[in-house]
Amino acid sequence: MRILVTGAGGFIGGHLVDKLILEGHEIIAVDNKPFENWYQRFDQSQNFVADLKLIENAMKYSVGVEQVYNLAADMGGMGFIENNKAKCMESILINTHLLQASVKNNVEKFFFSSSACVYASFRQDSLDIAPLKESDAYPADPEDGYGWEKLFSERMCRHFQEDYGIKTYVARYHNVYGPNGTYAGGREKVPAAACRKIIEAVKSGSYEIEIWGDGRQLRSFTYISDCIEGSIKLMNSNFSNPINIGSSEMISINDLYKSIIEVNGLPFEKFKFSHDLSAPQGVRGRSSNNDLCLQTLGWEPTISFATGIKETFDWIAKELNY
Ligand code: NAD
Repeated sequence: MRILVTGAGGFIGGHLVDKLILEGHEIIAVDNKPFENWYQRFDQSQNFVADLKLIENAMKYSVGVEQVYNLAADMGGMGFIENNKAKCMESILINTHLLQASVKNNVEKFFFSSSACVYASFRQDSLDIAPLKESDAYPADPEDGYGWEKLFSERMCRHFQEDYGIKTYVARYHNVYGPNGTYAGGREKVPAAACRKIIEAVKSGSYEIEIWGDGRQLRSFTYISDCIEGSIKLMNSNFSNPINIGSSEMISINDLYKSIIEVNGLPFEKFKFSHDLSAPQGVRGRSSNNDLCLQTLGWEPTISFATGIKETFDWIAKELNY
């Protein structure tokens, strides 16, 4: 099949292109970053630098394509999305124009990468939260900015399917991590940031680490290979409502640091932790209920945090010459 992957120079997009090439597809890979900033770029795909907020680019790269995986978005970890709400919302132009172009160019299937940030904040304000099921996105109270953009785009997918007949698929990703992603610069998410901070603390000999918030906030983290497998399974299914693609293994941020230190054989007792209570920390507790995923895809993520974070740490360590 001829498949367009947008955001292909990014973390998840790069891994997806890799997998789809292995499956034998012809890939059009598009991102607006200069090639030297792509995390992965493959000779077997056709690679283009273009801004997909522009309708003419959305039209151009979806010609003759059977499937679109839309992963392009202006996004980052909590520090980025809490301080760049307008920028996050502007990604609506990418989704709108890609959906319009896909209909015009008779694309059969359209995949949208949504997020656990669509879930209502009032369901995530304590540590004894129930894992989030898909219906918990309503009544709507998503993450301000980024979450509203994702929720609105989900809704557009639904109505483009109902009104124009294009098949749409919506994955709600929960904290995806792994090698070949952002680990510094302000857009990184907590697993990669934690690996970097630990490496820097050891390299400097200070063993000092600052954690955002009190560190008791709970999350679940999805390893990249599970994310890719779930996304492709979803695209090959007939399920058109939003669905969680996320691990249900919950861990506090304090335990996340402990786990990374321990799986890498570092001396936990040497580390000195402080907590910045004024830093962005997002919701209090969040994890994925996978009942619907199991029912519809017969599958759920299986890679444990300890396994996935070791791969991630090793990659970041290499990047930092550690
Ligand atoms: P990423 O930032 O690594 O990748 C996104 C890519 O989109 C970037 O390379 C960026 O340059 C590109 N992009 C941004 N604006 C563009 C534009 N106008 N035209 C073309 N390309 C543009 O992020 P990621 O982690 O790979 O996330 C991929 C998708 O999954 C995003 O939609 C994101 O919101 C969603 N998501 C990710 C996570 C996660 O934990 N990583 C969680 C939930 C949802």
